[in-house]
Amino acid sequence: MEAERLAPSAGTPFVTADERPADILQRVFGYGSFRGDQEAIIRHVVSGGDALVLMPTGGGKSLCYQIPALCREGLAVVISPLIALMQDQVTALREAGVRAASLNSSLDFSEVRSIEGVMRSGELDLLYVAPEKLMTEPFLDLLERCRLSLFAIDEAHCVSQWGHDFRPEYLQLAVLKNRFPGIPRIALTATADGPTRKDIVERLHLQSAEQYVAGFDRPNIRYRVGLKTAPKRQLESFLQDHEGEAGIIYCMSRNKVEDTAQMLRASGYNALAYHAGMSKEERARSQDSFIRDDAVIMVATVAFGMGINKPDVRFVVHLDLPKSLEAYYQETGRAGRDGLPAEAWMIYGTNDLARLHQMAAQSEASQEQKRVEKRKLDALLGFCETARCRRQVVLEYFGEKGATPCGNCDTCLEPVETFEGTEAARKALSCVYRSGQSFGSAHVIDLLLGISSEKCTRFGHDQLSTFGIGTEFTKNEWRSIFRQLIALGYLTVDNEEYGALKLTPECRPVLRGEQDVDFRRDPSSRGRGGLKSRTKRSFGPALAIESSRDQALFDRLKALRLELAKEQSLPPYVIFNDKTLFEMATVRPSTLEAMEDLYGVGKRKLERYGPAFLSVIQEETD
Ligand code: ADP
Ligand code: ZN
Repeated sequence: MEAERLAPSAGTPFVTADERPADILQRVFGYGSFRGDQEAIIRHVVSGGDALVLMPTGGGKSLCYQIPALCREGLAVVISPLIALMQDQVTALREAGVRAASLNSSLDFSEVRSIEGVMRSGELDLLYVAPEKLMTEPFLDLLERCRLSLFAIDEAHCVSQWGHDFRPEYLQLAVLKNRFPGIPRIALTATADGPTRKDIVERLHLQSAEQYVAGFDRPNIRYRVGLKTAPKRQLESFLQDHEGEAGIIYCMSRNKVEDTAQMLRASGYNALAYHAGMSKEERARSQDSFIRDDAVIMVATVAFGMGINKPDVRFVVHLDLPKSLEAYYQETGRAGRDGLPAEAWMIYGTNDLARLHQMAAQSEASQEQKRVEKRKLDALLGFCETARCRRQVVLEYFGEKGATPCGNCDTCLEPVETFEGTEAARKALSCVYRSGQSFGSAHVIDLLLGISSEKCTRFGHDQLSTFGIGTEFTKNEWRSIFRQLIALGYLTVDNEEYGALKLTPECRPVLRGEQDVDFRRDPSSRGRGGLKSRTKRSFGPALAIESSRDQALFDRLKALRLELAKEQSLPPYVIFNDKTLFEMATVRPSTLEAMEDLYGVGKRKLERYGPAFLSVIQEETD
């Protein structure tokens, strides 16, 4: 099918040589201005330079090679690890009228032949290809006979063993430099850390590439973290604020995924499940519906998400703790790729932590690896328990210093109460010490509360001087204090010893009375029962539809979009994204020329879809 659709449109070159990048941005993609470093990167690559681009998800990496591909003569080869990603990009490009195709294992022989034909005849601007296909000798031969404009290496972190999705095939891409001298190469990734970046440069021979490193903040995502008190009720109340929106809910286990999806369906949500225990076909069906239908909630394990390019995911929920802050940032990063307001909401409990520690202890990893994992867990807990701006904590973890409080996370929006807890800290720490640093928090809390369990009598702990010295706090309050003592680094959990708490050297000044400790007061420990529900719609001020009249039009435009998408088996956002529909509903253009000024309306889409949308606008406006 790919090839069929391609052949007839091929003819005159799509781009006139003297068209500037900014004109292409407007004419093809319908955007009025570049974002961040885009323009500099594009200029550099158009003039033939190599580049390494680090930009967060949703930052706009694709245009950094798509526009040069249209400015420079010849074929641009885009190397991408995932078929789903390639197909998405190709569909979107073709909708915008660009001559793009992808070569992957899902095509049959004649489709491949036909694409190779247009490659040779110079009638193709962008070709997406998997690394294993690219690196075959016949294909490299074919490329040598084509006129090439550039190589783009997407998800370039796959070349690094430090990254989380190392792909051995990527290592072979090193040969491109010598085999195709003079063809610019642009490597792109959203994975930032130093070792990975160094690896990319070395392995892909990008020493002379210009590096463009954008900040990793995702300002449109609102972060909220709360305690798990009544998870089902908390989830229902969260979803009430997200009616009609698409989102992902991550759970730790397959069973929990199934149960949660079932429960949501019973409450009337269009919720689907996705986990590695389902058949390949079932998973594909779920994923497809998530991408192609409106307002689907995907309940999933971490098996879901890689390569999902859906830009209008409005929320990502974690009902269980992810395994690290990196994982959390990657998973929540799937929200709001379109730059519109989105929300990342997580609830966690003490049990989650115990489970993660247990998993770490049972893993087969080397001692060194285990130490790394332990540090990652500590960082995650520190993030959960912080009284500071969540965004600041995350960005600092990724090495970005100097961020100011963001105003768009729970701790900024509802500053947490803290209390002077030096005395409480000393009681807790001494109790850990006196009981021999061999027990988990549950037992130590029993001791503080003077609860005489079997374990307690067995070890003679009811004889300790610290037995029953902490009755001024409830069990939940002590739990919170212990989590914070760990997060603050005064206590550490010994994974090798079934989660026994140990004192760290840092707690000495506290025990000696030389250092004060402040704790955050958890909402639940004041009996408020979990997080306050949000008052504002998540679409936020940037996209707030004020009048019900505009809302009605917006809903009709969305329905039209879905209908057009279904007819052509396209994902709706490929036709127009939410922001474009929002502008249509609020600006209400009365002519096609006026419509062209709106966000995301390029020439080709205007011709193709403009009239249909215009007539709905007119019907609702008269
Ligand atoms: P990334 O690959 O970095 O995750 P994408 O290239 O998919 O991000 O871009 C994310 C979204 O932002 C897309 O919907 C894209 O069309 C949009 N976008 C990119 N650049 C611009 C721009 N200059 N103006 C407006 N929208 C843009
Ligand atoms: Zn904040």
